[in-house]
Amino acid sequence: MLRILIFFGVVFTTAFVAVWIAEQSGHVRMIWGGYLVEASVAVFFGLAIVAVVSSTLVFELTRIILSIPKKLFKGRKARAQARGYRALMRGMVAVAAGDANAAKREARRVEALDVARPLRLLLSAQSSLLAGDESGAHESFQSMLSDPESAFLGVRGLLVQALRNGEIERSIDLAREAYRLNPDADWVLSNLIELEIRGRNWLEAEKVLLAAQRRKIIDSFDFRKRLALILFYQATSVLEEGSRKRAERLVFRAIRLRPGFLPAVRLAVDLLLDSDRGRRAKLLVREAWEVERHPELAELYVKIFEPETSLDRLRVLETLVVSNPDDPEALLITSDAALNASLWGAAREKLGKVVDVQPDRRLCRLMARLEQLEHGNEDAARQWLLKATKAKDQPQWCCGVCSYVSPTWTVQCPSCQAIDALHWTSIQKQSTSSSQGAQLLEKGPIGSIGAIIK
Ligand SMILES: [Zn+2]
Repeated sequence: MLRILIFFGVVFTTAFVAVWIAEQSGHVRMIWGGYLVEASVAVFFGLAIVAVVSSTLVFELTRIILSIPKKLFKGRKARAQARGYRALMRGMVAVAAGDANAAKREARRVEALDVARPLRLLLSAQSSLLAGDESGAHESFQSMLSDPESAFLGVRGLLVQALRNGEIERSIDLAREAYRLNPDADWVLSNLIELEIRGRNWLEAEKVLLAAQRRKIIDSFDFRKRLALILFYQATSVLEEGSRKRAERLVFRAIRLRPGFLPAVRLAVDLLLDSDRGRRAKLLVREAWEVERHPELAELYVKIFEPETSLDRLRVLETLVVSNPDDPEALLITSDAALNASLWGAAREKLGKVVDVQPDRRLCRLMARLEQLEHGNEDAARQWLLKATKAKDQPQWCCGVCSYVSPTWTVQCPSCQAIDALHWTSIQKQSTSSSQGAQLLEKGPIGSIGAIIK
């Protein structure tokens, strides 16, 4: 409706102006180059309008003719881009399908077409990795670093390669660079924590862990566990530098965060005993025992008391387990001590309480000793030793990632290099190691991109 009104408005105005011009009297006289041009006002306006319209038409025609080459170029570019992105898509599909030859072919095709450089490099890297060409992939990731849009992905690709090759120092540098480029990426922080720990960079590890906590990418339990581990190692470092007070503060913080953390309790007990604070050491071990029933805690407790006889040793251990005397671990430890003290009745009573509950090797061996020592019953002892060979294994330090069994606790699994993965458990399964790079790649978000890059 509005358009119709405007149209009629324009028509009426034009007609009105035309009539007004036609009604004007007088002449327009112009001297141009020695000629006298004379015309009525109406004719003059008519000629002026014709001149304006003609000029406009000539201008538009010229503009259209001049823009033809540009349009032709744009069309060619658009077609080349479309070809490039089709080749890129085919290349990505080939990578996803594991077709290394097709991926390489499309990557070469994309090189010659108009495709954004980061995408071109990404396809090139992926197709190289798929074909097992690590150096080609490395070159592509390295090239990505020069472009701000692809630098983060390039760093990630190089990090994945460095981890696979077990280059921890380089991995740490790359992870730090990734953190600088994109501190918001969860995988960066979670992997940087592990890497700083692997590199024994305890102060840096603590900083990164606190950053992870601020960003809420680590739950409270894992945070406390990791921080306790870091503080314990900070304590050992400062102790080596001769700062005992600082070491004490750090190790007690670690124990508060992770009660029953055996290496920290061991260190704290040593520090306390060195400064004649046996009472505090006893309390510390008793508190740890409430959380972690580990034979080494019992040995630590005995060490504080320094009992002179086997009977004294048994009495000491009974004070440790006084709050949970029927706990299987408590019964095994005290029955062993009772056997050493030649208290056969006490030993049999204690072992009798656990013998029906899936006896493990240690229990079978204790029963064999009891039968041999109390009654000299060699047959019964042999039977128990035979049972021991078939019984489930006693608790050991076992890696939760690769099931490797270690004789002692270590921060890093000797087999798969996983951090803080050894647990005191009776799992028997042992497996061969996997590469340390794979351990990090399989965990968390790095795995997803790792899978793309692989
Ligand atoms: Zn392991």
